[in-house]
Amino acid sequence: MKYSLVASLIASSTVVLGELVPVHFKAPSPAHFRDVVRNDTYDFGCRPVAQPTEDGHFRLAAWLSEPQIVELEKFYERDTDISIKRNLVKRAATAPIGTGDRFSSGTVAPKGLGTQASGTTIASIMNINEITSALNALKSVYGANLLTLSSKTFEGRTQVVGYVGAGTDKSAYHLYLSAGIHARERGGPDNLIYWIADLLAASKAGTGLTYGSKTYTNAQVKSVLAAGIVFFPLVNPDGVAYDQANSNLWRKNRNTKSGSSGASVGVDLNRNFDFLWNFKKYFASSESPASTSPSSETFYGTAAASEPETKNHVSVYSNFPKIRWFMDIHSAVGDLLYSWGDDEDQTTTTTMNFQNSAYDGKRGPVGDSAYKEYIPSTDLTNIRNVATKTVAAMKAVGGRSYSSQQAVGLYATSGATDDYAFSRYWSVSGANKVYGYTLEFAPSGNFYPTLSEFNTNILDTNAGFMDWALAAISVGLE
Ligand SMILES: [Zn+2]
Repeated sequence: MKYSLVASLIASSTVVLGELVPVHFKAPSPAHFRDVVRNDTYDFGCRPVAQPTEDGHFRLAAWLSEPQIVELEKFYERDTDISIKRNLVKRAATAPIGTGDRFSSGTVAPKGLGTQASGTTIASIMNINEITSALNALKSVYGANLLTLSSKTFEGRTQVVGYVGAGTDKSAYHLYLSAGIHARERGGPDNLIYWIADLLAASKAGTGLTYGSKTYTNAQVKSVLAAGIVFFPLVNPDGVAYDQANSNLWRKNRNTKSGSSGASVGVDLNRNFDFLWNFKKYFASSESPASTSPSSETFYGTAAASEPETKNHVSVYSNFPKIRWFMDIHSAVGDLLYSWGDDEDQTTTTTMNFQNSAYDGKRGPVGDSAYKEYIPSTDLTNIRNVATKTVAAMKAVGGRSYSSQQAVGLYATSGATDDYAFSRYWSVSGANKVYGYTLEFAPSGNFYPTLSEFNTNILDTNAGFMDWALAAISVGLE
């Protein structure tokens, strides 16, 4: 429509930390949002997603500063098709961050909601020391295995993954889940840790699990554990520490190499993975799957896997060579995304793929025929079936709405964890095939849940993890 005009707004845009207002754009078609999402000074959450509304339109969530809202309102003043609205939902206070250590220096195990009476709630979100303490407690109480990863974060923190259910042979582990890569998406690490705690507690007690209206038998618990689960609950500890201390919706890590103050600090770890990372080369010039600007929320870093957190995340695949299914846990949309995220899927032209340089400069635009990403049809069927079962379980817990869709949606991404996971089969010699997912837990538009939402998120995601794992097992782990 008027990309040049939107591009001209970049110069006048101010990037403001904190004080971001959740808004949504509304328009008759997703295509109406194409120009505004190309402006990398605006914040569209993990990735821009256009969701259908009940009245047949589409809505696009964003987090904008007041000056940005003013400039966009002015820009769209005479355009009756697009409107910008502040999300005027009166909200309870956001869930508090825990103080102290509820796991008493790794001696008291986390207790999930699936093994407790209906209506039980957890009183606060874990602080980063509690996440470490929780891992240590899962080890001391249940014998969970821990592995310290080799790179230290920019601020010098050590990163640890846990692995449970299949003993000490790392080649017996087939499921991999990670959380906390985007710092502000509060509750992601908690969702994962409390689920693992539930599995271990139920297995030990010989019981099942209950999440709202969803119940699972002890046999199902044991089968999920037997698949071997690797869990990495805090991918971005520096970012989470900063967000928890300042409540400023911080997303990236805290690397100061490319910028030392304000918004210019940090890399978006979920654009830093080695999948079409150098997007300027691989994608059509019209697309903005990531950003080269350090002050953007989607800054891609200084090289593919330049960041220690990315290196650690990738090292999990070499440590656990038979991982077959991967899920990265994000918020806040209410959907489950599956491969690919760089362009629309196609199952017929094998040579039209992310490794073929003949298509450099053509990837990204949705709705055209210049490029679509190849996915074998069996893989697409498997991936979709598991996605469908996962969101059905999440809906069944308490009736919140969730959907599944291809990750590209309407706007491409590069360098993301889910595409990287799936791409390894083709780009890394001898690598196992890994089906990659991105879960965006709800509620839509809200990175800092209320206490009630935080607890509902635990129930919804934990049932989702159960059915994701069970469906993955039925498709196959080898
Ligand atoms: Zn995210």
